[in-house]
Amino acid sequence: MNDVVLTGDRPTGPLHLGHYFGSLANRVRLQDAYPMYVLVADYQVITDRDVPGEIQRNITDLLLDYLAVGIDPAKVTIFQHSAVPELNQLLLPFLSLVSVAELRRNPTVKDEIAHSSQQAVSGLMFTYPVHQAADILFCKGTLVPVGKDQLPHLEVTRMVARRFNERYGEVFPLPEAMMGEQSLLKGLDGGKMSKSRGNAIALSATEDETAALIRRARTDSERLITFEEERRPEVANLLTLAGLCLGRPPRDIAEEIGDGGAAALKGLVTEAVNEFLRPIRKRRREHAEADVRRILTEGNGVARERAIATLDEVRAAMGF
Ligand code: ATP
Ligand code: MG
Repeated sequence: MNDVVLTGDRPTGPLHLGHYFGSLANRVRLQDAYPMYVLVADYQVITDRDVPGEIQRNITDLLLDYLAVGIDPAKVTIFQHSAVPELNQLLLPFLSLVSVAELRRNPTVKDEIAHSSQQAVSGLMFTYPVHQAADILFCKGTLVPVGKDQLPHLEVTRMVARRFNERYGEVFPLPEAMMGEQSLLKGLDGGKMSKSRGNAIALSATEDETAALIRRARTDSERLITFEEERRPEVANLLTLAGLCLGRPPRDIAEEIGDGGAAALKGLVTEAVNEFLRPIRKRRREHAEADVRRILTEGNGVARERAIATLDEVRAAMGF
């Protein structure tokens, strides 16, 4: 079978190192080998907040982040939910294929509700994993580069595809998750690094911002630096970050620092992260906002054609 890659991000703020090592690095690697769609999940912004906020600004920044890490719009279709109505319409038949109990059990949704700023949990919050099934299946995506938090959602997509095929005949492939080098990078507070939780190092952070964030990260008072994930999670997390940026095992870095203490550790991490981000920052400056609008207009057109074809197939299979 010919693979198709689909991934995306919510335009809720700047992308961070968790995105890079969880998903973006794989996208850059896969874009030469497979047809790829990258979704700007604008409708999903309002799953966990009441209003979309600075949506245009966030979409522009998201596109600049993509270009900065090396996603090539000549190879990849970049598009938005809100520009592809036929994708969203798939949500209707798909919602009929899952039970409320199945939606309630989703552990990622539970975690996101716990961190949500909404007064009350919306219906969209519960159903967005089914919306993600529409995201993936509209282009018959088979490979989905995502972080670990997305695995329960991918199960929902597989379930939707399987049930649709059983009820109406073979239309959809069953997609597979593809996890990055770091499937769950922790933020500077020890929780999942997230753009909405104020614990992230953004790919667009300046040298000084990066240094300030790392300076504020929690550590412990032992001078000898060791990589012990269970006993010393904060120190281990910083070593992991440096290891990813340098392409070295965190344990080696710990040995190199030896009894230098937290100051030496933070100095090394800051240098490693800044070194890693330098070419990304440079590439970001090479693109303008005008590029972004052109890329989205083109991508939206391509995605829409694909969605119309799939929705036609779905309606035909259902006998409409
Ligand atoms: P938000 O807090 O607004 O939900 P987020 O940081 O969780 O933002 P998303 O846009 O929800 O980012 O996720 C986009 C993709 O990046 C998903 O595939 C997700 O699994 C991956 N991802 C996000 N955070 C991490 C992380 N800390 N480690 C690895 N992958 C991550
Ligand atoms: Mg998220």
